[in-house]
Amino acid sequence: MRHCCIKMEGALEEYGSPLRYVPYSRSYDMEYGTVFKNIETGKDAAIVVEPLKYCPWCGVKLPKNLFQEWVKIIEGKFKIDTLDKEEIKKVPEEYMTEEWWKKKGL
Ligand SMILES: [Zn+2]
Repeated sequence: MRHCCIKMEGALEEYGSPLRYVPYSRSYDMEYGTVFKNIETGKDAAIVVEPLKYCPWCGVKLPKNLFQEWVKIIEGKFKIDTLDKEEIKKVPEEYMTEEWWKKKGL
């Protein structure tokens, strides 16, 4: 099992679930608020994205969210300060997956 419990696994796979897992930042987020269609991506977008610290089902403390560390690396190492469509292409593949933090043993 990749996540803490079977209920979390299920919620992350469920279509339309407000929960999502972001591999590159190891963040478990809950999205809520008014859902609208993003014109650029054609995907649904929510207004509020709240990172979760604990699993809502089994209560386990979730692993540390690495978003801030990720931003520091992206800005410091790759000199990218605006993550727009063009800049994001400069980010090496391993930084868009779990690979970078696994390599660092975080
Ligand atoms: Zn859980």
